[in-house]
Amino acid sequence: MSPEMGRGKEGMKKEPREIGYLPFEVIKEKITLPSKERMEKGGVAIIECVESIPCDPCVESCNSEAIIKEDLTSLPRVDYEKCTGCALCVDSCPGLCIFIVDCSREDKALVYIPYEMLPAPQKGDRGDALDRAGKKIGSMEVAKVRKGERGTTVLGILVEKDLAMDVRAVKIPESSNG
Ligand code: SF4
Ligand code: SF4
Repeated sequence: MSPEMGRGKEGMKKEPREIGYLPFEVIKEKITLPSKERMEKGGVAIIECVESIPCDPCVESCNSEAIIKEDLTSLPRVDYEKCTGCALCVDSCPGLCIFIVDCSREDKALVYIPYEMLPAPQKGDRGDALDRAGKKIGSMEVAKVRKGERGTTVLGILVEKDLAMDVRAVKIPESSNG
């Protein structure tokens, strides 16, 4: 990720609302992320929710009681030891800010992302891996597709391991998407 991301021409840090996406630098300031060792053990939820809003469907969605909010408006926190990586929370979030990162495989990382465009991709589809700003950072293959209860599709995508904490969206070529 570019060190300039989230900064204006004069080097002043810009607010996410001004630039239209949430830079990783801001996430790291607000959230304690799981250790590399934890991510290599198996899937774990990364909740990129950094605004205090009255909202808690993520808490309700988790059968393992791994998502904790001290009160309705506090930021959610994940107990990374309780989290099983089941991905049930991904489509519960109206803000589409929950992702699962699994670096336990030898070859690629498996990352679960919410997806709301139609038609939904199919298993085996290949396309671009995009970062939080919508910039192409590599390629990906769809390994799993699950239609969530709210209508949001959850995609499990395979990417190079060094993209696991940066890939947050995908772009599928039209020829393989319909
Ligand atoms: S991935 Fe599963 S266990 Fe982990 S926080 Fe989400 S719902 Fe809970
Ligand atoms: S459901 Fe999403 S927006 Fe609401 S508190 Fe949980 S992570 Fe934040």
